[in-house]
Amino acid sequence: MQISQKYSIFVISRLTNMNIPDIIIAVDGFSSTGKSTFAKMVAKEFGFLYLDSGAMYRGVTLAALEGGLIAKDGSIDLDALSQRLVSLDLHFQRESGATLLYLGDRCIEKEIRGMEVSSHVSPISAVPFVRNWVDARLHAFSEGGRVIMDGRDIGTTVFPDAELKIFMVADDAVRAQRRFDEMLSKGQSPKLEEVMENLRQRDYIDSHREASPLRKAEDAFVLDNTHMTLHEELVWVLGVIQGKFGILEAPALTW
Ligand code: C5P
Repeated sequence: MQISQKYSIFVISRLTNMNIPDIIIAVDGFSSTGKSTFAKMVAKEFGFLYLDSGAMYRGVTLAALEGGLIAKDGSIDLDALSQRLVSLDLHFQRESGATLLYLGDRCIEKEIRGMEVSSHVSPISAVPFVRNWVDARLHAFSEGGRVIMDGRDIGTTVFPDAELKIFMVADDAVRAQRRFDEMLSKGQSPKLEEVMENLRQRDYIDSHREASPLRKAEDAFVLDNTHMTLHEELVWVLGVIQGKFGILEAPALTW
């Protein structure tokens, strides 16, 4: 997609005039389609709270791993996990503009993004009582609206009445490369084939599980960002918001 720089700068300059109501924006899609980067940008531009629902599932997975509740063969001790959830203190904290996940008083942002958590998170998030536990917290964190949340089932299950739903897709190779680069930049040493395999496995489990599988909500707008820059994604979402809520004035294209 080629959008003239002049037009996009013009559209973005209208942001200051936008008065978006306290809506909930749901962003769903396959793994590593750039949901969190997109959602964080929208949150910053429009003054929304960004919530990463995947981080909650990753946090539960880390707690399960640390508590020895996942065996070597991958089986989960469900009774012990349900007990663990009773006292599990997972919460987000705002720090210098970022929303970070804490387990008690320990920031676990780094641990939850590693390969070990990534390889166990999808089976953990397929457990119905885990989903109920996370959903209850996501609702509590979102009280009052003006929230953009990304995940797999936000527009279908967590907030089926969200005022704006976006479903993100991108080519497999591009997704794997993005995830690989992100892990490298965080000081990890991933292998590209392992990253690709992990994405495939998670996509499969996430979209085939019985409890709240990943799928596009009927009323979601599809954003394929395979060949898009972040700047173009911002222009795209502005167009969607203008079309849906009629908030922006029609631009006067005099040039
Ligand atoms: O978004 P992220 O890749 O960090 O999510 C990690 C995992 O958490 C996903 O692969 C999926 O198994 C699970 N998840 C989910 N429902 C959500 C968000 C994430 O099942 N709403």
